[in-house]
Amino acid sequence: MPGLAVVGHPVAHSRSPEMQTAALAGLGLAGEWTYGALDVAPEDFEATIAELAAAGEYAGVNITVPHKEAALAMADEATEGARAIGAANTLTFRDGQILAANTDAGGLLRSLPAGGGGGRALILGAGGAARAAIWALAHGGEGAPDEEGEPTVVRAFDVDVWNRTAARAEAVAGELGGRAVEEPDAPGYDLIVNTSSVGLHGEDPFAHLPLAEESFRPGQVVVDIVYGPQPSALLAAAEAAGATTVDGLEMLVQQGAISLRIWTGEEPSLDAMRVGARRS
Ligand code: NAP
Repeated sequence: MPGLAVVGHPVAHSRSPEMQTAALAGLGLAGEWTYGALDVAPEDFEATIAELAAAGEYAGVNITVPHKEAALAMADEATEGARAIGAANTLTFRDGQILAANTDAGGLLRSLPAGGGGGRALILGAGGAARAAIWALAHGGEGAPDEEGEPTVVRAFDVDVWNRTAARAEAVAGELGGRAVEEPDAPGYDLIVNTSSVGLHGEDPFAHLPLAEESFRPGQVVVDIVYGPQPSALLAAAEAAGATTVDGLEMLVQQGAISLRIWTGEEPSLDAMRVGARRS
């Protein structure tokens, strides 16, 4: 029975086991595949992954905080995106080899309304999640399926990056294909993505980010990848102003669906995953 799991530290709060178990059930694979959670301390990470890859019981694992960089460093092969981003959230074990991918990037693209892109994007934050977002938006790629289930393409955005610590915005933007900004004119953007951790513990976004309630407008897409209290204050204000909003759980579902497709070759039911993610 092929095993799957999310590996993190801590990991008890993760929504992935319930979400991925719902996806496996929807694919009729629940009897064959399992998806659990492994709490692995940083000092044990390398040995644990090497053991899982060698033992043959696990088909792969999702990787979460704080192991994404270490996961990439252990890989025998990695996708172009994972290498550019410098982190992996999906490892596949095949013939004793470790293959790494970063599905946060594709998950963000697939969480956007289908058929979009090509405009101006503002990324707030410059941490690990921002790296995936900047790379994804600056390159474009596969978007959400259209109404017939056919994949769509998200065109590359012109990406600006704002961060509380401005020097970090300069560094990541320069490396990954964006431009650092210190005083962004928020209404001018077609897409605004909060990748900072503001909101995780209920912080007021308007006190910590360069945004005001007037920052949002109809025709704009606003994504808050933080999945704290829902809807976040940021998305509530964006929605009230007529913008299209996407929450962090949608990105979680989409990145998880890409991971599951890598391991099983099947396209899981996004609706089953949404129910699983929101229930946990
Ligand atoms: P990280 O590497 O620790 O980066 C945190 C970022 O938040 C930094 O840019 C930091 O700015 C900024 N920040 C923290 N407190 C702030 C404040 N009070 N005011 C302004 N900026 C502040 O974290 P990460 O791994 O990128 O994750 C960020 C968030 O994304 C987390 O909440 C995580 O759960 C979420 N996430 C969601 C998904 C999903 O699938 N939905 C995937 C990945 C991550 P400084 O550089 O100035 O410290």
